[in-house]
Amino acid sequence: MSEARSGRVVEQLRERELTALLVTDLVDLRWLTGFSGTNGAALIGADERLFLTDFRYTEQAADQVEGFEIVRAGRDLLGELAARLPAGHAGFDDERLTVKEHARLVEKAGDSVELVPAGGLLRELREVKDAAELERIAAAAELATAAFERVVAQGLAGRTERAVALELEHQMRLAGAEDPSFPSIVAAGPHGALPHAEPRDVEIPAGVLVTIDWGARLDGYCSDCTRTLASGPVGQRERGVYELVLSAQEAALAAVEPDAACASVDGVAREIIAAAGYGDRFGHGLGHGVGLEVHEGPRLAKGAAGTLAVDSVVTVEPGVYLPGELGVRIEDLAVVAEDGPRVLTGFTKALTEV
Ligand code: ZN
Ligand code: ZN
Repeated sequence: MSEARSGRVVEQLRERELTALLVTDLVDLRWLTGFSGTNGAALIGADERLFLTDFRYTEQAADQVEGFEIVRAGRDLLGELAARLPAGHAGFDDERLTVKEHARLVEKAGDSVELVPAGGLLRELREVKDAAELERIAAAAELATAAFERVVAQGLAGRTERAVALELEHQMRLAGAEDPSFPSIVAAGPHGALPHAEPRDVEIPAGVLVTIDWGARLDGYCSDCTRTLASGPVGQRERGVYELVLSAQEAALAAVEPDAACASVDGVAREIIAAAGYGDRFGHGLGHGVGLEVHEGPRLAKGAAGTLAVDSVVTVEPGVYLPGELGVRIEDLAVVAEDGPRVLTGFTKALTEV
């Protein structure tokens, strides 16, 4: 695993005419080396594979890190790593390093080293998953779906939003999740009109739409799914908006294919919602990549650059939000594949009364 990923990085370095890359973002570091601790940094070049951490993590690194020479460093990981940079152009993470850390790099790197902004180099590579990653994301999604089924089987009306969110998190952990991949959203009735609603200590009434957005983290990998359910029979208005969002979601999902422009996939859902007169009620992007982070590349949104690559994992999550009234969002997680998207989120999308 580590060797294949290192190979992809070295190929990128060659393309960008970089001698080496400093890997300082912990998620990038985990992807490249397997290290899941909270203090470490690596240097990778055509011939260099160095991993630095402090005494607390040297044992863990010896267990987890393959293909890198492990060096026990002092407090100043970054400075020690900079001092070991080979002469030439060294890429650094200008998107995540602080100004202070950058100053430290400049001070410690020799005069023969030129520091070049290379933020996003690994994050871009991370967009395309290998088989082991796809398996882990699928397992996280499966676990989250099973937890969801257990929770909604108990009904929604009469429970508070917070109780449902907590129960969902509890069930995911019981099933082996490390964590929820983000704080769960449970939003009933008008509260559902807030795309990022926080669960309240308020009882869910019968006969409203309830939006639940949740995910599990398993083996470091995230899942992400949203379903909007009904807590008992709902009216024509609710059903109409639900069917609209569902048709937009299914059409956009069908447009998820290799080489599709990220902005056009977003456009598919946006046009359907706009044609029904709700264009200004779908205020966020269609979706995002998911992997070690619950929000990563690629971004499916209006004006987003780039195209979809085989084995990327993306969400497709249009919504319609009517302030003071209701909200509907439906989100699937899918692998981009030649023969059509492979959907990982299994719960039915037919409007379900619980
Ligand atoms: Zn979500
Ligand atoms: Zn999402």
